[in-house]
Amino acid sequence: MDTGFLPFSRPSITEGEISSVAEVLRSGWITTGTKCAEFEQSFSEAIGCRHAVALTSATAGMHLTLHALGIGPGDEVITPSLTWVSTVNMITACGATPIFADVDRDSLMISAETVEPLMSDRTRLIVPVHYAGAAVELDPLRQLASQHDIPLVEDAAHAVGTEYLDRKIGVDGHVIFSFHPIKNITTGEGGMFCTDDQDLADHIRRLRFHGLGVDAFDRQSQGRAPQAEVQEPGFKYNLPDMNAVLGIGQLARLGEMNQRRAELARLYLSKLAEIEAIQPLQTPASTTRHAWHLFIIRLDINNVGMSRDHFMAELKAKGIGSGLHFKAAHLQKYYRENYQHAFSLPETEWNSERICSLPLFPDMRDEDVIRVVEAIKSILRSPST
Ligand SMILES: *Cc1c(COP(=O)(O)O)cnc(C)c1O
Repeated sequence: MDTGFLPFSRPSITEGEISSVAEVLRSGWITTGTKCAEFEQSFSEAIGCRHAVALTSATAGMHLTLHALGIGPGDEVITPSLTWVSTVNMITACGATPIFADVDRDSLMISAETVEPLMSDRTRLIVPVHYAGAAVELDPLRQLASQHDIPLVEDAAHAVGTEYLDRKIGVDGHVIFSFHPIKNITTGEGGMFCTDDQDLADHIRRLRFHGLGVDAFDRQSQGRAPQAEVQEPGFKYNLPDMNAVLGIGQLARLGEMNQRRAELARLYLSKLAEIEAIQPLQTPASTTRHAWHLFIIRLDINNVGMSRDHFMAELKAKGIGSGLHFKAAHLQKYYRENYQHAFSLPETEWNSERICSLPLFPDMRDEDVIRVVEAIKSILRSPST
């Protein structure tokens, strides 16, 4: 059996994609230009959304969205604590207050039931996360947001290709995707803001490049006025062509790569079913297509005589990488020390101690899954202390 190190994630990049990046590097134009525009066009066609704005990360997308929605001091944004810290950080950086909703124990997602009691007259936005590649129960959350006349922004960093009730995530609403190297498709670093709201799309597009009405490419090559003026103070979050061109190639293989992820996930599910101390997540019935961004298990720490961190160290000693998605934000140093809010998040905390992401990436072989499952069995049989 192969005993080389099995990482928990590895981007799948073809020689053709490498050549396309090299071509951009040789072309004389490497920052935002035609490749970025082409990537936005292909992405909006693939997802079926009206507007797609490419950015340097999903975090940038969250920052610009909060800024464009005018969210600031005194405002509250409801989001899970069990998420990547970027959203919580951006809310805080804007001077607003993150209000944490608890998640479902087995899907790790917030719901209208957990969000509603937290709504106040300061609530300005709800940010649910489509977790691990499954879809959040979107319709009741949208209904709740519209009853209170506030927007909802979906964190779809895990959900490129996910479908909710046979609709692709991103086809409507305000949705932010990530193309970080561990995500389902990558641009090295990158993100996409999608919306059906023309004004918001235009606003985000302007904010991504200094608040000018145009970008560097427009100025240099398209004969648009280099005298373009600042409409409002903006940021610098435009996606370079050398990244965007990688995204074009990746997007063309999205279906194939997600299909391979799904096959590997099915194999994990069947092999892990016999291990009682390992509990995978459950997929909500409304998720009609799962993107399988992550394969997350919960370790029955009360009965196996070891902590999750110890379990991860044991996997590592056997040459297997694993991940933690995520350690709850409200338990991290800054938020522990600076937040006065008392949160009751029992399901979040229960999972935060037990979750672990097993290796899952398109180029993984079936044997790798078997190897991970055998390693888990052996660790649980004879835990070293
Ligand atoms: C990766 C991730 C992000 C941030 O994406 P970046 O492109 O790295 O900024 C946001 N939310 C979740 C849930 C993520 O997993």
